[in-house]
This record gives sequence, structure tokens and C-alpha cells, in this order.
Amino acid sequence: MIIAWQKEFDPAVLDLGFTDYQEGVVTGLKKRTYGFQASVAQGKLETVEIHVKGAVIEKLVCTCDAAKKDGYCRHMAAVLLTLDEMLPSPLTFDIVEEETVNVTVTLPKSEWSRWQKLAQAAGVTIESLIAAELKKH
Ligand SMILES: [Zn+2]
Repeated sequence: MIIAWQKEFDPAVLDLGFTDYQEGVVTGLKKRTYGFQASVAQGKLETVEIHVKGAVIEKLVCTCDAAKKDGYCRHMAAVLLTLDEMLPSPLTFDIVEEETVNVTVTLPKSEWSRWQKLAQAAGVTIESLIAAELKKH
């Protein structure tokens, strides 16, 4: 599913990124083989890498602390906003949706009570226990 990149950002972070973008602190935007690289001089100088495949973002990298915690930071947002202005079409994320499959499992009565005990012991429903078991195969 293709979504606007903004949807993956925390609104507060997006706001800060927008401020950075407006203040023009994004510099040295370069085209790289993986996509784009830019610097954001917001207090400290951070380097942002935008890895893309076509218009789809594959990976975002930033040298700041917020990004180290696996988050999307204001610097990334500022660079993405800059890119959206320059590129013919805005960048997007392609979110992989979990496929839902309905499976009917028929258990003999003896099996049923065994699964029931296992589910009770694990504190989960029989359905989720069987679903987890099916996932392994
Ligand atoms: Zn950052």
C-alpha cells in the first residue's frame, strides 16, 4: 500500500521538520546511487540519507540521536520536504500489509483439550495459539 511519507512521521516531528525546511537549513543536497544525501544544520550538523527505489522510500538514515532510537526525525522530514519540492512526484512509503488468511482447523476432541490446556497455560486464546503454530510451518 502506497502512502504519503508524512503519514509515517509523528505530527510534532513533522512540524519541526517543516520549520527547518522553511528556515532553509537543508544544504548540500546530492544525488547518490541509493537516492539522496543532504545535510541539515539544525544546531548540530546532521547528515541525512534517503534511500529510494523510484518514488518509494526504502530506508531513511540520519546521524542524530532521535534517529538512532529507530525513529523518524525532523532532519529526515526537512530533507523529504525539500525533495518533494524538487522531484516531479512526491516520495512515498510502500507499507507491507499483513496478509489475512482464514483457516479452518478441525481438531479431534482429544487434541482440542490438549490445545485448550496449552492456551490456558500461555494465557492466550486457542485461535491465536493455533495461528502462531501455523505460522511456524
Ligand atoms: Zn535526524
